[in-house]
Amino acid sequence: MKRYSAFAVAREALSDHTGWGRAWRKAEPKRRYDVVIVGAGGHGLATAYYLGKNFGITNVAVLEKGWLGGGNTGRNTTIIRSNYLQDSSAAIFEKSRALYEGLSQDLNYTVMFSPRGVIMLAQTEHEVRGYQRTAHANALQGVTTEWITPQRVKELVPIINLSGPRYPVLGGLWQARGGTARHDAVAWGYARACSAMGMDIIQQCEVTGVRRDGDKVTGVDTTRGAIDCDKLGLVVAGHSGSLAQMAGFRLPIESVALQALVSEPVKPCMDVVVMANTVHGYMSQSDKGEMVIGGGTDGFNNYTQRGSFHHVEETVRALIETFPMISRLKMLRQWGGIVDMTGDRSPIISQTPVEGVFINCGWGTGGFKAIPGSGWAMAELMARGHSPLAEDFTLDRFTEGRFIDESVAAGVAH
Ligand SMILES: Cc1cc2nc3c(=O)[nH]c(=O)nc-3n(C[C@H](O)[C@H](O)[C@H](O)COP(=O)(O)OP(=O)(O)OC[C@H]3O[C@@H](n4cnc5c(N)ncnc54)[C@H](O)[C@@H]3O)c2cc1C
Repeated sequence: MKRYSAFAVAREALSDHTGWGRAWRKAEPKRRYDVVIVGAGGHGLATAYYLGKNFGITNVAVLEKGWLGGGNTGRNTTIIRSNYLQDSSAAIFEKSRALYEGLSQDLNYTVMFSPRGVIMLAQTEHEVRGYQRTAHANALQGVTTEWITPQRVKELVPIINLSGPRYPVLGGLWQARGGTARHDAVAWGYARACSAMGMDIIQQCEVTGVRRDGDKVTGVDTTRGAIDCDKLGLVVAGHSGSLAQMAGFRLPIESVALQALVSEPVKPCMDVVVMANTVHGYMSQSDKGEMVIGGGTDGFNNYTQRGSFHHVEETVRALIETFPMISRLKMLRQWGGIVDMTGDRSPIISQTPVEGVFINCGWGTGGFKAIPGSGWAMAELMARGHSPLAEDFTLDRFTEGRFIDESVAAGVAH
C-alpha cells in the first residue's frame, strides 16, 4: 500500500497521478479463513481492522453482498456524539468519539472528522428534565457536555427561531467535541487498512447459509461458494434477523426504514449540528453547502431501503418552525436505509448460542458514531472471548431483564 502524504502527492504529480494503484485489493474468496466477517459496513470493517491491529489476526475475510459501505454506513447523516445516559453506553460511544479524533492519522486516510459541536434541543419541559439529567450523568462519566440556555443556542445557531408556537426552544444539551465525519471515507479508510494487512474484502458475495457441526460453526455458504472458518462475525445491521435465522437462533430485533434528505447547496449558515428530537428532525450543513436533514423511522417493519414520502413531508414541515429559512430551499435528494432496532435502543455485541458465532447489531438509528468503538470491542470479544466495553451489551440481557434503556438518548436521535 502506498502511504498518502504531501510528499507522495508531489511525487505522483510528476507522473500525472497514474501510479497510485487501488486503495484495496480485489480479492477472490479462499477456501478457509480463521475469521469471516459478514457485512462490509463500517462496523464489519472496523472489527476486521482492530482484529489485525490489536490482536495480529489477519487471516480474515470480510464478505459483502453489495458494494462496500453501500448499507447504512453510506446512507447516514454522519452525526458523532457520546452524550448517552447509561454508563455502559457513554463508555463505548466516548471511546468511539475519541478514536474518531485520531482516525485519519491512524488509517492514513482522511475521514474528514469535524468536531463542530452537536446541540440536542429541548423543546418540551420533559426534554429539559431529560437532558439536564443526561448532562449530570455525563459529568459523572467524564463525558464533556453542558446544559445551555436558549440565548446560548441562538449564539451558536443564528438561523434558529427560538419562539415557535408549537416547539419553543427551552435550552439544549451541547457537546462541543461532537460533530460529523465523511461516512464513506470511514468505510474506505478501514477497507484500505485491512487490505494492507493482507485481509480479503470480497464484494458481490452474499452469505446464503451458515454451516455448523452440531452447535459449532464451521463456515458459510455464499453466492461464490462455501468458505470455512473458525470464527464468524455477523455485522449486517438491518439484515441481522435473517443472518441469525441462517445460523439457527433468534434475535430481539426489528428492521425499519430510516430516511434522510439534502437540500440544494447554500452559503455557509450553520456550523454546528442541531438535533430537534421532539419534531423528529435534525440538520447540519455539509462542506458542499447542502443542508443535510434526517427524520424519524417508518412506523412499520420492512427491508425496502427506501422510506416513505409522507415522512419527508412531516420532517420538513416540523423543522420549518425551528428553521424558517429551509422553507425556501429546494430539496435535491432523499434516500433510506434499514436500521436494526432493539427494545431498549442499545446495541448487541455478543457471543451467540452457536459456538464461534458472534453478533454485532442493534445500533438502530445511531451506529455511525459508534463504528471505531464498536469495532474495537467486537474484535476484542472475537479474539479473547471477552471485552470490557461490550460486557453489558450481551444477548442474554433480554432474557435476564438487564436492559440498557437509551430511549431518550437514542429513540429518534442519531
Ligand atoms: C438515513 C439514516 C441516517 C442515519 N444517521 C445517523 C447519524 O447521523 N449518526 C449515527 O451515528 N448513525 C446514523 N445512522 C445509523 C448508522 O448508519 C448505522 O447504525 C450504521 O451505519 C450501521 O453500520 P453497519 O456497519 O452495522 O451496517 P451497514 O453499513 O448497513 O453494513 C451492513 C452490510 O452488510 C451487508 N449484508 C447484509 N446481508 C448480507 C449477506 N447475507 N451477505 C453479505 N453481506 C450482507 C449489507 O449489504 C451492508 O453493506 C443513520 C442511518 C440511516 C439509514
